[in-house]
Parts: sequence; structure tokens; C-alpha cells
Amino acid sequence: MLKLCDNPSRSGDFPRSLLYLVVLALVGWGAVTAVAENASLDIKVDQVGYLLNAPKVVLVTAAGRTFEVRRAADNATVFRETLGPALSDADTGDQVRTADFSSLREAGTYYLFVPDVGRSWTFSIRPDVFSRAYYLAMRAFYGQRCGVAVDLGPEFPGFSHAACHLKGEFHSSSGKQGPRDNVGGWHDAGDYGRYVVNSGISTGTLLWAWELFGDKVKNIKLNIPESGNGTPDILNEARWNLEWMLKMQDDDGGAWQKQTSERFPGFIMPEDDKLSSEVIGTGQAPYKSTCATADLAALAAIAARVYKPFDAKFAARNLEAARKAWLWTEKYPNVTFRNPPGVSTGEYGDDSCKDERLWAAAELWRTTGEQGYNEFFLKNYADFRPSLDSPSPEGWREVAPMGLWTYALADRKGDAVATADIRKSTAAAARAIVERTRKNPYHVSMVAKDYVWGSNGVAANYGMALLVANVLAPDPSFRETALDNLHYLLGRNAFSLSWVTQVGEHPFRHPHHRPSGADKNAEPWPGMLSGGPNADRQDAVLRALPADLPPAKIYADDQGSYASNEICINWQAALVFLLAGNLP
Ligand SMILES: [Zn+2]
Repeated sequence: MLKLCDNPSRSGDFPRSLLYLVVLALVGWGAVTAVAENASLDIKVDQVGYLLNAPKVVLVTAAGRTFEVRRAADNATVFRETLGPALSDADTGDQVRTADFSSLREAGTYYLFVPDVGRSWTFSIRPDVFSRAYYLAMRAFYGQRCGVAVDLGPEFPGFSHAACHLKGEFHSSSGKQGPRDNVGGWHDAGDYGRYVVNSGISTGTLLWAWELFGDKVKNIKLNIPESGNGTPDILNEARWNLEWMLKMQDDDGGAWQKQTSERFPGFIMPEDDKLSSEVIGTGQAPYKSTCATADLAALAAIAARVYKPFDAKFAARNLEAARKAWLWTEKYPNVTFRNPPGVSTGEYGDDSCKDERLWAAAELWRTTGEQGYNEFFLKNYADFRPSLDSPSPEGWREVAPMGLWTYALADRKGDAVATADIRKSTAAAARAIVERTRKNPYHVSMVAKDYVWGSNGVAANYGMALLVANVLAPDPSFRETALDNLHYLLGRNAFSLSWVTQVGEHPFRHPHHRPSGADKNAEPWPGMLSGGPNADRQDAVLRALPADLPPAKIYADDQGSYASNEICINWQAALVFLLAGNLP
């Protein structure tokens, strides 16, 4: 089965008792700090907060009439208003009222008080309110580094692991044999595999965050080993994975699909995983796969322009890799991948690599301006325009929007008709998202069918689409609606839960993430986005929840729920993009 973060069931999973879940739901246990122990889960607030000059809305799912915003320091009431009317929300089954205090424009730390209901978790109003969350979300990639010892330092004592997966070899399906010690890259998700397809969209999203919001992120130091080397840290971190991806390219230009063990290890630390790390291919000539190769071409083409001012040699190496990869996909336009016999790790399989090739051609044209890439794009782009109107929830699988957007975002002059067409379609799709988000009682862009594996990534990707639209066809409502989706992820949701570990007073605490499960720390590794509610219930924890739950409530903060509570680099990258776009 294909999934957003494509990981079939894991060994070493164990559902916790449902009683625990009930206790969690009833008393809201799990706050990292004791500041607001008595907060009501019926008041749903972005636990990070709100931008000074943006709309500020909190949601209330209990019967109340008025609300107050109180200053946390002295409990003084600074704003008082009536709640909006109760609206029925089909996706959660909740009756939802809005508490709108957009006109409050005084920076500070506050909480909401609703008579007869209680108080909310605390939140801030500041122009740089998302800076800390951005820092932690980017540092989560550092925590996923493979092949090197990782230590989050004095800020998070005890969050460390020794160098892992230092030995690799060619699997029989790769067409080669012997040792292949490609060290590096990021662990993909809660497991320790590394996958070129998912690496492509994830690393590409980070490089795009740099290209679109470089001014906002360039001076944010991530306290990683490369900090201070003259290159912005977001690019330093992305390069860690990119270097590994480049090593997955064979001499003929093709890229192998993945490097993982044959099966998932148990819930152990990465350095204790002694299963052999295998470069895995398709099992028959040409052994490499087209989607992986085209994703590598797209990513390396972006890297060729992004890294040029900081490391021209590295940029040139990327351009050469991208060209070679592109040529390989011309020779083999649709070699798809399925797990070879005996391999049960994530597949990231895809029936069609046409959209990956479209993305690669567009990025190569944007970087080089060469006609061959332009012609391929112009011949094919119209087939993919509908993907802007109804994006696939599987962002790693359907990368056509990246191809279309990058063509229209390019500084160089492309075909005027195609550019105008993409711009118009992107803006129209964004307006439709804005309209339905305004009607949604939870102020989220999600529709019922979006509550799939990795639904939080779907929410983050709506945010990304809106921010891209705001660049192509600026409209304040695009940015405001992007913020709505960010608010949803940070606590303004049915569970009143921040879906980013160690962010906010009431974050989720039991990710399906091996280091968090195996280490001695009470809290999970910080800055990681949960997969989120999933109506498809592919794990036993979700199947044990009541049968009549509405889709947006099918979620469990339980390590065993890999289908709703795993972390994954692709939706993590979309979160970073959304946060980066809202930095000052
Ligand atoms: Zn590793």
C-alpha cells in the first residue's frame, strides 16, 4: 500500500492501553511545563502564538458566551468580547465557536479565559513568534543525521546518539556487489532507512524555503557542527542529505531507490542497529529507478544554483550530477520500483515518473536556461495543470506542482503563455482553498478525504501552496490562510495538542520514532511534526479506537500508532517551509 510517509508496519510496535488514551483525553496530561496545568482542552489555541499584525482566532468547543484575553504575567484582562455562533463541524463532530481578538496588537504572553469553561494554554503575540519553532523544526533534521554522532548539546542534555550505519553493501537487487559504505543522509522517519524519492521532495522543499525566504532564515544559527562556516545553516543542513543522495547515483547516471536494511529493526538506538545497510535496486537491469533518478536530477539542479555563491565547486558537481541523471531518465523514462523479494522496508513506489521528470526538466531549465529542458517542459506541462487544483495528499509521489511552480518562479524568461497559465491556475487554486478554509469551523484547509497517513503533512502542504501562490500572485488572504494551517498544527485542533514535540505547553509526547522510544529521556526528541489524524487506520492502535469517530479525531498519541504518530522528513520539511515563510 502507498502512503504519504511510505512505511509498512513495523516490527517492535506495541500499542499502549486504551485506558491511557482516555486518561490523556480527559485530563490533558502531558504538558511539559506546569504553567497551565488547568487549561481546558475545549479551548483550542496556537500554543506558540500569533503574529502581531495577523488575524488572531482561538476556537472554543464548549458552551460559552464571552471570552477574555488575559496577560499571563499578572492575569489582567486586556481584551473582552463575545464568542461567535456555534458552528457544526462534520470532520470532528464538534460545535465550534470563534474567539476573535485580531485587533489586539500588543506584544506579550497571554491566555484566554472563557467563563464557565476555563482557561487556555498560554501563547505569545510577537512579530518573531515562530522563530523558536523554526529553529527546533530545522534542528530535528540534524537529529536525524545518519553516519555521524549527533548531540543536541546543553540545551537538550541527553539527546544524543553515537555514529550509526557506518557500513553498507550492495544488495543483490542493485546489480552490483560488495561493500558500499555511503555514510550520511537523514534517517527518513521513525525508522533508520534512507530513501532517494522522499529525500528529493524533503530536501527540495528546504532548498525552496531558502530560495523564497532566504532573507528571513539566512541569519538563523542552528547550532550544528557547520555553523559559522560562512554558509547559511539551512543550506548546511540540507547539504548533509544531498551529499548522501549524490552518492546514490551510479556511474551511468541512474540513482538507486534506497539504502535500508532488509527489514525494520526494533525500537533501538541507531548505533545499536546492526542490520546491514543495503543499497537496494529494482532487481533487474537497469537496477536504478526513474522516479528516484528524476528526483535527484531536480534536487541537484536546484542545488547547482543555490550553493553557487557559497561553494562553486559543489554547485558544479551538482549540475553535472543533475545532467547525468536527466540523460538516464531519457534513456529509461519509466522504470518503476517495487520492493524486491525479502525486502520489507518502505517502498516509495510510484506508477508514473512523468511528474518527477517534469520537475527535473523545469529545475534544469531554471538553472541553465537550456532549450532542451524548456522544450520538454512545454510539451508536457499542460497535462499536469489539474494537479494544482486537486493536489495529491502524497506529496512525495506527486511532484508536478513543484515543476509548474518553479517554471513560473524562475528569474529567467520562460514561455509567456505557460508562465501566465501557471500563475493564473495557482492563484485560482489558492482562492478556492481560502474560500473553503473560511467556511471550515476549525479554520483549516483540510477536507474529509485529507485525513490520511501524514494528514498533518497535507495541512502543511496546503500552507506551502498558499505561500507559493502569495509569491506568484500576492494576496494577503493567501498568507493568512497559510497561517490558519500552521495554527492547526500548533494546537488549534480537536485535541488541543501541539503536533510538534517540545513546542507549546501541551505537545504530543509519544512519536513513533526509534530514538525517542529507545533513549532514556522522558521527553521525545524536540521539534518533530506528528503524522496526524488518519481515517484509514492502518495500525492496531487506530483500529481499536471507536468505530464511529469522525476522520479528524482518528489519532492517538501512542508510539505504536505509526499510521498517525510517526514523524517523517517530508512533512517536517513542509512545516519548516511554513514556519520560514512566517518569520520576520
Ligand atoms: Zn544511521
